[in-house]
Amino acid sequence: MGTLSHSKGILFDLDGVLYVGSQTIDGAIAAVDRIRASGISCRFVTNTSTLSLDSLQHKINALGFSISKQEIISAPQAALLYLRRQPDPVCQLLLADDVKRDFLEFRQSDTDASHIIIGDIGDTWSYPLMNEVFHCLMNGARLIAIHKNRFWQTESGLRMDIGGFVEALEYASGVKATMIGKPAGEFFHMALHDMGLSPSEAAIVGDDIDADVGGGQLAGMRGILVKTGKYRQGYAQASAIKPDLVIDSIRDLPSLLGL
Ligand SMILES: [Mg+2]
Repeated sequence: MGTLSHSKGILFDLDGVLYVGSQTIDGAIAAVDRIRASGISCRFVTNTSTLSLDSLQHKINALGFSISKQEIISAPQAALLYLRRQPDPVCQLLLADDVKRDFLEFRQSDTDASHIIIGDIGDTWSYPLMNEVFHCLMNGARLIAIHKNRFWQTESGLRMDIGGFVEALEYASGVKATMIGKPAGEFFHMALHDMGLSPSEAAIVGDDIDADVGGGQLAGMRGILVKTGKYRQGYAQASAIKPDLVIDSIRDLPSLLGL
């Protein structure tokens, strides 16, 4: 693809593009190395909300990649920056314990929060918890969604993601969530700003046609869909979002960039 070969920056989604669970996608390490060695700017943009930034970097590099913390732009980190811009927020953190460690600077309350931050809490969801959050929202708390992904791929198959829970809380309370991660335009612009590139100079590669491809295209970038991770042919074909390019795997990206 002609225009792709002029890309100055690539945003890589992590989960489903570079790895699934603890399994590296075949050829991913070499592909990232090759793209980086060519001088193309790389950032790793993820909605993952199960790991702190330290743990995430450790996990990626333990799989064989060599990615610096400065190259990772995670939705929980963007949430942290968002909360720092709020005047004295009191937070209810519905986040994995490891991620909560990054949020210790904020006051916390489960009953009197001004901001309810929702990320991945695994099996902790229950009716009493949903109802407790619903009451806080009815009392004026703001709903902050790390993301609204529908589902993701694990080593044992697809799993329902937090988007459905966020949507249920929005529906019941009438409160619209502030979305932090992909597909929020601000999230992509943060990454582009960090690379010093305009949207037309960059492309995103992801396995989520909604958050990665759709969000990236709305932000003005080219969106490349990989057929690994959560990709499902039927879901992608039914989508109104049309990727600029669909490739079998990240392995195929260097040659499409003319490398
Ligand atoms: Mg993904």
